[in-house]
Amino acid sequence: MPWCEDCAKYYTPNSVNTDGSCPQCGEILQLGEGAEHTHEEGGEVDESTPWHFKLMVVAVVTYLGWRLIQLFA
Ligand SMILES: [Zn+2]
Repeated sequence: MPWCEDCAKYYTPNSVNTDGSCPQCGEILQLGEGAEHTHEEGGEVDESTPWHFKLMVVAVVTYLGWRLIQLFA
């Protein structure tokens, strides 16, 4: 919950200004727990290309290559 020290008052996230300041005094409010930046943890992304994608690329290249050869045949 956003907390304003000057007003000694909690505000709901919806009642504060869009820039996160106090609607009463304009002080930038301290955000309580739960409003902190969420860190992306774990989820080690496997960036290797999926085998079926490689297969598709090979298939497309082979097909286009074949069509190209036919153009000159
Ligand atoms: Zn205030």
